[in-house]
Amino acid sequence: MNASQVTAHLPPGVAVTDPDLLAGYVRDESRFTGAATPLAVLAPRTSEEVAACLRACHAAGVPVVTRGAGTGLSGGANAVEDGVVLSLHRMDAVLDIDPVERLAVVQPGVVTGALRAAVAAQGLFYPPDPGSVASCTVGGNVATNAGGMCCVKYGVTGDFVEALEVVLADGRVLRTGTRTVKGVAGYDLTSLFVGSEGTLGVVTEVTVRLVPAPGPAATLVASFTDLASAGRAVAAISAAGLDASAIEILDATTLSAVDALTRMGIGGAAAMLLVQADAARPGESAQVLGEAAALCETAGAEVAVSEDADEAGLLMEARRQALPALERLAAQRRGDWLLDDVCVPRARVVDLIAAVERVAGETGLVIGVFGHAGDGNLHPTVIFDRADEDSRAAAMRAFDAITAAALELGGTITGEHGVGRLKAGWLTRELDPVALELQRALRRTFDPAGILNPGVAL
Ligand SMILES: Cc1cc2nc3c(=O)[nH]c(=O)nc-3n(C[C@H](O)[C@H](O)[C@H](O)COP(=O)(O)OP(=O)(O)OC[C@H]3O[C@@H](n4cnc5c(N)ncnc54)[C@H](O)[C@@H]3O)c2cc1C
Repeated sequence: MNASQVTAHLPPGVAVTDPDLLAGYVRDESRFTGAATPLAVLAPRTSEEVAACLRACHAAGVPVVTRGAGTGLSGGANAVEDGVVLSLHRMDAVLDIDPVERLAVVQPGVVTGALRAAVAAQGLFYPPDPGSVASCTVGGNVATNAGGMCCVKYGVTGDFVEALEVVLADGRVLRTGTRTVKGVAGYDLTSLFVGSEGTLGVVTEVTVRLVPAPGPAATLVASFTDLASAGRAVAAISAAGLDASAIEILDATTLSAVDALTRMGIGGAAAMLLVQADAARPGESAQVLGEAAALCETAGAEVAVSEDADEAGLLMEARRQALPALERLAAQRRGDWLLDDVCVPRARVVDLIAAVERVAGETGLVIGVFGHAGDGNLHPTVIFDRADEDSRAAAMRAFDAITAAALELGGTITGEHGVGRLKAGWLTRELDPVALELQRALRRTFDPAGILNPGVAL
């Protein structure tokens, strides 16, 4: 296969084949996932150009990997052998913000943080806030049904997607959903594309629901002498039904790594819970955090509460640094990291933490634990020696054992990062055979030639 079989049929300026540029599109941020140098990067500027790209690839039988910002952690945007990468980075316009309907219409390459800032300027709020919010794209968030810090109160990306424009594998364009508050005509194709990881079509326009701006965030920091007690506090806060806007957990390894990176003086505890509340009515957040503080203290924590919104922002930013900080820690040991993304029922967070501690003991590896504890969604991150085959194998064993433990606890193999290439083998262990067969049939219906993101998910 050569690139000109596709590029010859495209509008000028869409295709890039310069090897130096192609090198930047080989893989996303995942580890232990297969990748290849693409034949070309296609960077369309309009939906029509996306359709032209897909028609050309379909005719030539060339695999297409769609890419937002490449911040994915499951290998979903990794290029494949003899394939092209379709990058949406040039389609980055906020097309409309409608304060009456509380909707925004955006192109897929808009950075999530930029959308949040654009709607905030009009007194509105777009809640989804993955840790990568400053660089990931709305299209990538839709394709992975991304979560983030404030899902515990507001929900995940899919809860805010009202309508889509999608280009199918053969270049046909369809629109799903409505701009109305209600709408039940036909099957819910919008939801089908949400979380489809680039396997059913290319999202070229997204209409998202907005909510009124929240109040200033107040924060509770609870420091624990062991991780399991922090897990028990999470279960107690969940059971009490408190209206927290974030419940994040960081273990000792992650805390000291973040502290070394940010110099914020947050290291030292065996585990920390960050609980935020952003109620619009004065006094309500303080009440929520007061109740959460009492529950954390009962679980053995030392607690500090701050109503300073700037401090709340700084603490959340420190939490966002968890993965970069563990990456730095691994690099200092000439090692690397392998991050898991599992989600269990909230009452089983304690059991998941116990399983991770057991796996760390059995493999002798350091495993940092952080994540969206309020959703039962943790990211145990295995640190290993990249140059040592035994250490690499142990890291994979630890990753598998943690993912298996999540399933045994009634959880799922992925809470928010997607199946991608990293967990393609795991889907058969989570889905029943009938669900699996229907999913395969759906994929064949949308993409009979199988050119969209081969090797991802199914
Ligand atoms: C430091 C860090 C923190 C993170 N924190 C979180 C977090 O809190 N929550 C969370 O959910 N994730 C998190 N992630 C993972 C990642 O940021 C998300 O999965 C994000 O949604 C990926 O967006 P992207 O634009 O980078 O997409 P990419 O990585 O480029 O692509 C992701 C997948 O979407 C597909 N895709 C992309 N755009 C389109 C499109 N327009 N149409 C069809 N398919 C498309 C790709 O083919 C691929 O399968 C984090 C990553 C990092 C590096």
